Amino acid sequence: MSGLEGYNAIVTGGGRGIGAAAGIALARAGAKVSLAARNETQVVEIAAEMRKEGLEAFAFRCDVTDPHQVRDLALSASEAMGRIDILINNAGTATSNPLSRITLAEWQHIMDVNVTGTFLCSQAVFEQMKERRWGRIVNVASIAGIEGDKYISAYTAAKHAVVGFTRAMAEEAKGTGVTFNAVCPGYVDTPLTDETIARIMHQTGRSWQESLSALLERAGQPRLIRAHEVADAVVELCMEAAGHTNGELVVLDGTDTP
Ligand code: NDP
Repeated sequence: MSGLEGYNAIVTGGGRGIGAAAGIALARAGAKVSLAARNETQVVEIAAEMRKEGLEAFAFRCDVTDPHQVRDLALSASEAMGRIDILINNAGTATSNPLSRITLAEWQHIMDVNVTGTFLCSQAVFEQMKERRWGRIVNVASIAGIEGDKYISAYTAAKHAVVGFTRAMAEEAKGTGVTFNAVCPGYVDTPLTDETIARIMHQTGRSWQESLSALLERAGQPRLIRAHEVADAVVELCMEAAGHTNGELVVLDGTDTP
């Protein structure tokens, strides 16, 4: 894919899973990409692999829940790349617990990373995008941002908030040249889903395969979605031609597979 030559992107949570795939896909489409995560080692490794491929990539340490670190990320990435045209709010985390077992710290952490991180990073780049009258902000929400399921109330509330933020910001951005959209995948083959499967194994004594099958059956998914499929949807939303797509949710649920 091409079409993003001359554009610069930040991808939060770019060290593994969907974020790493999105960073690579954006760079292969021509963008310069800055990957950010709390663990610098992973983003440094992915950026180095990308540069070996001839892609332009930078790595930064940033906890998206910390306003100072987010401000520093926006400044450092702007210095490295020139300016920020594209933001992928991908950093996220999930737990599963019945309501009675969710601690306040757990609830707040889920909200901080998924929701506050999305707010802070968007706020850090929106004004400069508006000034140049061009920008793409894609939020990685989830099917949990549209539907509910038991034992993931904190995550579901957080992703519903991300969807609500996307819709409200799409209205606020109308006519500015900046768009806000979200992708809403079901379960994706990433380390985060590995953790979920490991939890099911631990709680039920089932094998990996049995736990995965139970997870997919409950979600009504015929298969796990691949990270590169989510990445491709993200790239589509960043293209020049997607300028009229604003406030949309792109659902990826794997139901293309019978
Ligand atoms: P992973 O756990 O595989 O990767 C998460 C990434 O986010 C890592 O790079 C991690 O790096 C980073 N991250 C976590 N917390 C923070 C933080 N506070 N600040 C900055 N970076 C952070 O997750 P996935 O790739 O599976 O998920 C990515 C996004 O997709 C999330 O928003 C998730 O909710 C969403 N999603 C995932 C689905 C799935 O089935 N996997 C389904 C639907 C949506 P580090 O720990 O070093 O900070």
